[in-house]
Amino acid sequence: NVAEESEPIGWIVYNSHKSLVEQILINKDQTEKGLEAPILDALIEKESLVAAEVLRADENAYRHMLDYGFRPTRTYTSDAFDLAKLDLSTAVYLEKIVGKRPPKEYPQTETVIVEKVPPTRSHNDIKTAIMNILDLLGGLEAFVKTGQTVVIKPNVVADHGMKDGVYMGGVVTDLGLLKALVEILLPVAGKVIIAEGSSINRAETTKMFELYGYDTLVDLDPSKVSLVDLHQDELVKKTVPRGKRMLSRDIPVTFENADVIINVPVMKIHFAAIASLSVKNLQGALPPLEKYMSHYFGLWQNLVNIHHLVKPNLIIIDGLTAQEDFGPVNGVPKVMNLLIGGTNAVATDAVTMRIMGLDPALSPPVRIAHMQGMGPIEPEKIQVMGASIDEVRSPFKQPEINLEGGENLVVHAESACPGCRGYLHYVLFKLRRPDPRHPGKLLIDRPFEKRINLYLGPVTDAELNPDETNIFLGVCQQHRKDMGKHLPGCPPHTDVMMKGVFGLYPDVVLPQYADQTAEDKLEAMLEEVLEKETT
Ligand code: SF4
Repeated sequence: NVAEESEPIGWIVYNSHKSLVEQILINKDQTEKGLEAPILDALIEKESLVAAEVLRADENAYRHMLDYGFRPTRTYTSDAFDLAKLDLSTAVYLEKIVGKRPPKEYPQTETVIVEKVPPTRSHNDIKTAIMNILDLLGGLEAFVKTGQTVVIKPNVVADHGMKDGVYMGGVVTDLGLLKALVEILLPVAGKVIIAEGSSINRAETTKMFELYGYDTLVDLDPSKVSLVDLHQDELVKKTVPRGKRMLSRDIPVTFENADVIINVPVMKIHFAAIASLSVKNLQGALPPLEKYMSHYFGLWQNLVNIHHLVKPNLIIIDGLTAQEDFGPVNGVPKVMNLLIGGTNAVATDAVTMRIMGLDPALSPPVRIAHMQGMGPIEPEKIQVMGASIDEVRSPFKQPEINLEGGENLVVHAESACPGCRGYLHYVLFKLRRPDPRHPGKLLIDRPFEKRINLYLGPVTDAELNPDETNIFLGVCQQHRKDMGKHLPGCPPHTDVMMKGVFGLYPDVVLPQYADQTAEDKLEAMLEEVLEKETT
């Protein structure tokens, strides 16, 4: 009920379990047009990212929602009504919250420990640093009781860290750090499980464990220590509180059975999420289809959702060798000799981002988690212990996102968030070739039959020419999917982007980013999920 002076201008019917606007009713005494927008503004300020449901036949309501920034993502029939679900574009939401604080003040101060590790980085150095973090957070006994099962979630994203059999650093969680952590846990814990589901080499997590020497961790005590490939794990269905973007997720049972979860990500730049730290690291906690669906329905919100279902008790960010530039796998190692510990993912990421010279509000998943009350990014709400941020700050090189087009390929990206921008940069980068007319420059153009337009982000001023090749990226452009080729997702997964754009370039071979048969299977499985919803 939104009141202007004392008179309500209208009412909104809102289902908070699904974060779903079911109806907007305007007071019949109101003569002014467009009152839906301030009503939605008031709701979104309080509820953050929401969706809306409209009758498919109600063109007026659909148009209002579209104009506001909602995009159609699903259609289904409920109680004999044909309905369309529209999700508020994350890019629109991120614009709305620039400079704003969460609707509810975060109720407490969180503590984050910044621990410097001597450059020698001996086993003892690392162990002492972990012990210091634990002591400042209340001691090991505050986290683990005798006989409990502890699950460590490292970051083992892909094989990119190995060059000619030598580990480059900054790609996966440091083996020495994990070894020291397991040794600290063993005298107390009943079981220590190192659990991961590699995000890039999805079918090969066990191989990744071997590649990086994680299998040697089991030797510390084979009766207690084990490795779990989360992609092979049994799953348990869990309801997402507030149902944003997805109502339920299938979570590996290893997390469900854990007494304690320790999240151990690597300190990295991420070309789309800005930083890949503790909030981002839980994407690896999901099985392949769920990973795929996270991208499809909205990666940033889904990363926040996972934290309501898999709740790490402790975070230790591996900043021994970090990664800058085009992270999380193709960047450059950066030696920091730091460990950053905390119990709140948002606060721990905020401190780490400041050390990296980044504003935490610029990372979409961290910012959304902050606005939804998961933790603070405000310096006055975070007590930093150990070294100060100023003492260890060392700005990380950020990737240069180049979306420059050419005469025959035009990128319309004015309002896109870092998600689509980063992923599209990656794809275009692989298609650029030396320009014979301008030595030293790269060329994206080819002699295409028709001009190609790539549209990303919720708003564009460019007029659509139906006689050209038009490609629409992501949820933000989903309303135009029938006007050309649409690449679904938010942001569309690299494979989806690659397949969608590489087809225009017969001179370039499509890189096998992941096992194609497995990818096709996931696509078919997702279609099945969507099919169920549309009937
Ligand atoms: S579709 Fe792309 S631009 Fe839009 S919110 Fe998602 S990632 Fe950002």
